[in-house]
Amino acid sequence: MAMTINNLTNTIYGVILNDNKTLAALESELGQPPYKSPAKAPVLYIKPFNTLNNSGNEGNNGVVHLPADAKAAEVAATIGLVMGKTASRLTVDNALEHVSGVVVAADLSLPHDSYYRPAIREKCFDGSLVFSEIYATPKLETLTLTTLINDEEVNTRHLSELKRDAAQLLVDVTEFMTLNEGDVLLLGVEYQAPQAKAGDRVQVTVDDLGSVNFTVDSAAQVTDSGIAATETKVDAPRVGRVLIDGVVTAVTQTDDGQVKTDAGQILAESDVQWLPPVEIGSVFALGLNYADHAKELAFNAPEKPLVFLKGKNTLVGHNAQTRRPANVDYMHYECELAVVVGKTARNVSADEAKDYILGYTVANDYAIRDYLENYYRPNLRVKNRDHCTPIGPWLTRADQIADPMQLKLVTRINGEVKQEGTTADMIFSVYHLIEYLSSIMTLNPGDVILTGTPEGLADVKYGDVIETEIEGLGVLRNTIVDDETYFN
Ligand code: CA
Repeated sequence: MAMTINNLTNTIYGVILNDNKTLAALESELGQPPYKSPAKAPVLYIKPFNTLNNSGNEGNNGVVHLPADAKAAEVAATIGLVMGKTASRLTVDNALEHVSGVVVAADLSLPHDSYYRPAIREKCFDGSLVFSEIYATPKLETLTLTTLINDEEVNTRHLSELKRDAAQLLVDVTEFMTLNEGDVLLLGVEYQAPQAKAGDRVQVTVDDLGSVNFTVDSAAQVTDSGIAATETKVDAPRVGRVLIDGVVTAVTQTDDGQVKTDAGQILAESDVQWLPPVEIGSVFALGLNYADHAKELAFNAPEKPLVFLKGKNTLVGHNAQTRRPANVDYMHYECELAVVVGKTARNVSADEAKDYILGYTVANDYAIRDYLENYYRPNLRVKNRDHCTPIGPWLTRADQIADPMQLKLVTRINGEVKQEGTTADMIFSVYHLIEYLSSIMTLNPGDVILTGTPEGLADVKYGDVIETEIEGLGVLRNTIVDDETYFN
């Protein structure tokens, strides 16, 4: 199969702490603070679109540029499962039927000792996921992965030594989130994988399957990094997307708040099925970005932005339903200003950042605190559940908002105000967040930054109608439903 993965519409997930060697090495540490106890759920991370490094042929033969401040990167050999169809709540017996093929992958990261917070700077630099074309799925548990640096064998892994094998990992991941066709699940990276520095030639080879070869180089100059700069523009002050007879349809807002299609059809806001207002790329979210909220959760305000990533399965449009699972004690909303990137951004300063913003919308970043574990927190089981991030209804073009740092936020449950705040209280402004993220990786048009939430969280129950509103952007409505309603 001469296929490659390059699809903006998918999400790539990896997992740490999924092999016996790593767990043995860290056994005593994982019982101590800050982790306190070994992880129960798989500890997942996301490799965003900017990390994809597929030169497109079987051997890849690409180049990985180290970040400017890095001397070397760990090269973890792994296998990626490419999903062939929608996978939700799988069983061990049917899990692998949902996999259409596999890739040989080298997942690069900067060395890091702590697994307490998401390792965005370490794991998400441009081109840090090198992978082969897609191969037919082999017998996975017998595979041996060998890493060579400058033709010298430096590491050997056997997939028979995974803590969760492919089927079990699929079961445990799809228990709380859906994997969609084209999504990739990497089977895990080893603790202290071998390091490669600038000038090294690296090969990851899997007997009877395939290999990837690449070269590690020093940091790319911004001017010659090979980034194809792109820009997205919108004509109308407010745009949205809806489904009409199953077709994704771009719409604008009429003066009296109704929905207008390009063909001139006018519909009531309540009569359409809403999608996220634009095609969304990578989703970045901020933890603890309002000082009052950090205090509410008994944390000190962070010195650097605390960023985590979200998959596309979490997104859902205006007027949708979000599931509260049975037997959870605390699920809360988070009203957030969502910033949509309009132009390829790399090393953009806060002063220039405004020019890179397409527009703004409203997001509600639900969390279920029952599932919080002290690994890459807030971990994906808390934050990456299907349809737990309503967003919309409209994208308001950036030039329509005089100052995004002076907007009031309000959340209502069944009409009663529960959360009030202002974007003026953000610790890191939208412009500083673009500066920070674009210093780590390339931002692309359609990428979204959820900028955090102020204090005033409350539990939500079945049947509650949650409205998150931001001054000048509109009201995003969502209804909480139980398992039976959601799955039927
Ligand atoms: Ca949030």
